[in-house]
Amino acid sequence: MSAGDCIFCRIVAGEIPARKVFEDAVCMAFLDVAPLAPGHCLVVPKGHFGSFDQMPADIAGAMLSRLPMLGKAVQSATGSTGFNVLLNNGKVAGQEVMHVHVHVIPRKEGDGLGYRWHPQSLDDATADSLRSRIADGLDG
Ligand code: 5GP
Ligand code: ZN
Repeated sequence: MSAGDCIFCRIVAGEIPARKVFEDAVCMAFLDVAPLAPGHCLVVPKGHFGSFDQMPADIAGAMLSRLPMLGKAVQSATGSTGFNVLLNNGKVAGQEVMHVHVHVIPRKEGDGLGYRWHPQSLDDATADSLRSRIADGLDG
């Protein structure tokens, strides 16, 4: 997909309206158009990256460094007492817009949103093998 076809690139370029709450040199945050809760924001890099693992570490780091500030502002604006930070990476993980974005979803007691995944258990040999394959695959 070229940047010209990307909805979030077009928001960053100001070609499509969005309720922007924050912008700096590397990222922008705006309200999600179909929020899971009032105040649900998305943080996107200004450059087009389809997948989080393709992002240069400095840009990813600069973008993620804004989350505490944004989460605090979202909480105080919405009266929420917590928030979920969610990044769906890849179609299989639920990513629908193929421009990296981080969800900040404010939470309140009894909001009914829920959040429960089902933990699995691994035998020691599998866990050891996974640990070393992941550790060996790190390339900065
Ligand atoms: P994903 O499933 O890819 O993690 O989430 C994509 C999110 O982008 C959804 O929550 C959806 O509501 C939001 N979204 C999609 N199109 C637009 C848009 O044009 N404007 C805004 N503000 N949010 C959008
Ligand atoms: Zn894009």
